[in-house]
Amino acid sequence: MHDPIPTVTLPSGITVPALGQGTWNMGEKATRAKEEIASLKAGLDLGMTLIDTAEMYGEGGAEEIVGKAIAGRRDEVFLVSKVYPHNASSKGAIEACDRSLKRLKIDCIDLYLLHWRGEYPLAETVAAFEALKAAGKIGAWGVSNFDLDDMEELLAVPDGGKVAANQVLYNLGRRGIEYDLLPWCQERNIPIMAYSPIEQGQLAHHPELIHIAKTYQATPAQVALAFLLERDGVIAIPKTSNLQRVAENRDAVSLDITDEDWATLDAAFPPPAREKPLEML
Ligand code: NDP
Repeated sequence: MHDPIPTVTLPSGITVPALGQGTWNMGEKATRAKEEIASLKAGLDLGMTLIDTAEMYGEGGAEEIVGKAIAGRRDEVFLVSKVYPHNASSKGAIEACDRSLKRLKIDCIDLYLLHWRGEYPLAETVAAFEALKAAGKIGAWGVSNFDLDDMEELLAVPDGGKVAANQVLYNLGRRGIEYDLLPWCQERNIPIMAYSPIEQGQLAHHPELIHIAKTYQATPAQVALAFLLERDGVIAIPKTSNLQRVAENRDAVSLDITDEDWATLDAAFPPPAREKPLEML
């Protein structure tokens, strides 16, 4: 038996698991497709039913992998994809979304994000997203790599307040958003999707995490994920194409870390003492 995965409620009232699955680097090599599909399916079986992808990943290849993994079980999944900034115009966003839907073999993307800020005015992108919503092609829209000033600008454009999430780099070693962006989003019930939650695998080798994990008979990656699961309104989306690690990451929800060990982690990975520009990968 597995402990239930905590949930996060989106502004629309829809509830999603606080632990999902990333797909960056998937769909790049045909020889790896089988294991990528199998790991996403295994993650769904274990309740990690939020899948994050993007038209950028494998230039559409990752969306095709996701399409295969969710075939026949669309209703279980909360699908997140992203539009390139250079496609985020009124016409471009609609066309990009249609291409993504085709690759994913679905009728509606649950959450469609602007991957990062680009050349098109936010008002134009938001209007395109709202048109996609009205057409039933997306359920909600959000942004990615938006710092606090970007969010403030977004909220000032027509319908900008309908933003459903902001996906940013957030993990134990990248805590800058705790100073301002995270509390700002939490106050407004805008979920934060934490990308690279294991710092692309690097936190699995951190000596302090290895040390703490041992005392719980856990793994360093699980401690890194537990850190994010502890926070309100935060959704972690680790990527793995390894079946064993799918199960390992899923079981991070069962870790119950003591206040004393959180303090040790705070000393090793200090929270920000001042404002810091948002980092991105
Ligand atoms: P993660 O922090 O999720 O780390 C993924 C890497 O860690 C992979 O190499 C994986 O290898 C390895 N890994 C996974 N689980 C474990 C484990 N338990 N122990 C040891 N190693 C592990 O990095 P990502 O950058 O992939 O971020 C997650 C997701 O966030 C992306 O896949 C993507 O969907 C999204 N993202 C969004 C961005 C944005 O700009 N909006 C930017 C970056 C990411 P293996 O597969 O071999 O297990």
